[in-house]
Amino acid sequence: MTLTKLEIFKQHCLINGQWTSTDNSLPVTNPANGDVIAQVPDLSAEQVNEAIVHAQQAMLSWRALSPAQRGALLKAWYALIMAHQDELALIMTSEQGKPLSEAKGEIAYAASYVEWFAEEAMRIQGEVLPAANAQQRIIVSREPVGVCAAITPWNFPAAMITRKVAPALAAGCSMLVKPAQQTPLTALALGELACRAGIPAGVLQIVTGDARTIGEALTANPIVRKLSFTGSTRIGSLLMAQCAKDVKRLSLELGGNAPFIVFDDADVELAVAELIKAKFRNAGQTCISPNRVYVQEDLMPAFTAQLVEQVSQLRLGDGLAPDTQIGPLIDAAAVAKVEAHVADALSAGATLLCGGERLSAQHNWYKPTVLAEVPPTAQCACEETFGPLLPLISFSTEQQVIGYANDTPFGLAAYLFSDNLHRVQRVVEQIESGMVGINTGVISAANAPFGGVKASGLGREGAHVGIEEYLEMKYQCYGIK
Ligand code: ADP
Repeated sequence: MTLTKLEIFKQHCLINGQWTSTDNSLPVTNPANGDVIAQVPDLSAEQVNEAIVHAQQAMLSWRALSPAQRGALLKAWYALIMAHQDELALIMTSEQGKPLSEAKGEIAYAASYVEWFAEEAMRIQGEVLPAANAQQRIIVSREPVGVCAAITPWNFPAAMITRKVAPALAAGCSMLVKPAQQTPLTALALGELACRAGIPAGVLQIVTGDARTIGEALTANPIVRKLSFTGSTRIGSLLMAQCAKDVKRLSLELGGNAPFIVFDDADVELAVAELIKAKFRNAGQTCISPNRVYVQEDLMPAFTAQLVEQVSQLRLGDGLAPDTQIGPLIDAAAVAKVEAHVADALSAGATLLCGGERLSAQHNWYKPTVLAEVPPTAQCACEETFGPLLPLISFSTEQQVIGYANDTPFGLAAYLFSDNLHRVQRVVEQIESGMVGINTGVISAANAPFGGVKASGLGREGAHVGIEEYLEMKYQCYGIK
């Protein structure tokens, strides 16, 4: 399949149902070889503001549809995404680098949010509450928040979009999406499928261009009532400040620093297998990726031996090659960050067990790496590496490891492995994170609430609560004569 021959391969923005181009454009490159695979529009703030007015217009009739009608259109979009799973995956791997099998998996995962929220549209409910005053009646209804904006990252070019768009549209909002500059093509292809599904013009718009220009336009415009952002804590807090001016609603899914804790009563084989799944998916470029691995001291030798044996066998390659397990990192800066974290840990006394270098100087692959005896204060244990590096840190007691795990401003995901139910419950209650995987490394699902605490964000995506982020309550108080 040639990329440019695909009918869903779009190099224009989707504005008010039209594929729109501009004089200025930005290149999209393939991280596996640096080839420029597309050019997408570099919109001006003025063009973004025009799109916001279209979104406001489109929302008037969109919110007036019944939830079942909106749900049916979302279901049609879901079916088209699944019918184009292979093409979407090809576009994704070409701009993002992940292995094709993972890209296909992400498309199915992304589509599952659309299906889920198509059904949740029908469950937007109100309440009748008892009034304190016998001459009054209280009804609480729920209404769409208004025009919404989404700013999304490059690591999951499809799922981070559908997680936001599907609940927003189900709730009756319209949405403008600014995909990451590195991965706009998957987003534009999803936009094309939304048009084919019959989602009306202006309800979903995709705007590409300079992040700062678009971010400022979206946050400065009072018509936009909500911003949903996934990305770094630095940019999330900047956008939060920009949204403060007219008090927009916010959902923020920000950085993590996930601890992976293995107690000495854990099933070692299972812990190793789940760690590899959780860590090396997307070459470690996942916000819930285990970033630091704490193993109870008695178990460390057996755990390390099994882990290193399996990690050394992981196959690096072009994501489009059928046997590739680990693709390139997104860019040279991402590789440099892993290199810096490895160098820092080694200079602080860590031991290199496997990997520890890039595949070649010109390319963006970094070998899957395991470091032992990493001091808990090493850079790689304190900040997200976002690459294929596993630092092993030994601990002796439950309280000690809980202290290590919580000693971070972040609180997105945590993982713990133990066969002792009492211990599991004690530790889960004390871990400061929005999500905990217990004896599993795979926790994301459309029917579960994804999100973090502390500097990892605000709000939840998915589950029955995901749609609440796009609804406002209206309290109606009736006086009775
Ligand atoms: P990462 O380091 O993973 O790229 P970022 O937080 O920089 O994370 O990027 C996440 C999203 O935020 C991307 O769509 C990016 O283009 C966008 N972004 C980056 N800087 C800004 C900004 N100043 N204003 C608005 N959006 C931004």
